[in-house]
Amino acid sequence: MKIARNVKELRHEITTWKQEGKRISFVPTMGALHEGHLSLVGIAREKADIAVASVFVNPSQFGPNEDFSRYPRQEEKDAALLGKAGASLLFLPSVPEIYPSGFRTVISVKELTEVLCGKFRPGHFDGVATVVARLLMLTMPDSAIFGEKDFQQLMVIRRMAEDLALPVEIIGAPIIREPDGLALSSRNAYLSAEERRIAPAIYGALTQAAEEIKNGASTESACRKAQEKLLAAGFSKIDYLEARNEADLSPASSPPCRLFAAAWLGKTRLIDNVRIA
Ligand code: AMP
Repeated sequence: MKIARNVKELRHEITTWKQEGKRISFVPTMGALHEGHLSLVGIAREKADIAVASVFVNPSQFGPNEDFSRYPRQEEKDAALLGKAGASLLFLPSVPEIYPSGFRTVISVKELTEVLCGKFRPGHFDGVATVVARLLMLTMPDSAIFGEKDFQQLMVIRRMAEDLALPVEIIGAPIIREPDGLALSSRNAYLSAEERRIAPAIYGALTQAAEEIKNGASTESACRKAQEKLLAAGFSKIDYLEARNEADLSPASSPPCRLFAAAWLGKTRLIDNVRIA
């Protein structure tokens, strides 16, 4: 696997592959890679001749009191994992390579970013949309893969790509979980042993609420019960646990829809979602 640390090296590799008529699929990440990320690389390899991954901890998507400086970084291990997963190129840029001095553009997707995580992390999705747009323009892939773990992010990026007529297919990928149901996340590394024991309750509460809604309970009462269960299990705070329609993230009162949760275990904020058919 090749490693490009700057735009010039990236462009050189991409141009060569494009001239050879190769199809490229792109997997952007913030590193501290796990099987969830690697599953996206697997999908990229199925979709295209060349899988390109990036590892970039994007400062503009972190709020002033969030975990940018302590976000886990493990460059060498990530490169080894990506190589083993079959990526052909890793783009590993520095912050000034992505945001050169003079950078002034912000991409802001309206409405979809005003609910769920957008309400609790002001500016977060502007940071995401802006960096993903720039990474897509630099990499010029035929497709790009994003996990449903961050379902709202996937919707925001789909909208942005469509609105800006970016010539790329945005592909959603299923959530990879631990055997006990906890969705894999780089932030799981923050959890103490006791918090890690409690963490799967978020998936348990969502799946149980989904079952109740399928059996006729109202989304409101099922979500309220699930919130109470999470607090009883030891979660310290719940940002939201609610049912939304997949297409526009508007509030949902019946299936098909998706249940979304963000909840705190001590200093760690976990998110998850499940679909109700
Ligand atoms: P991140 O490094 O957290 O920015 O995530 C990079 C990509 O991996 C995003 O598209 C995420 O949605 C995806 N991802 C993260 N965790 C998982 C998971 N457990 N299953 C599937 N995709 C995931």
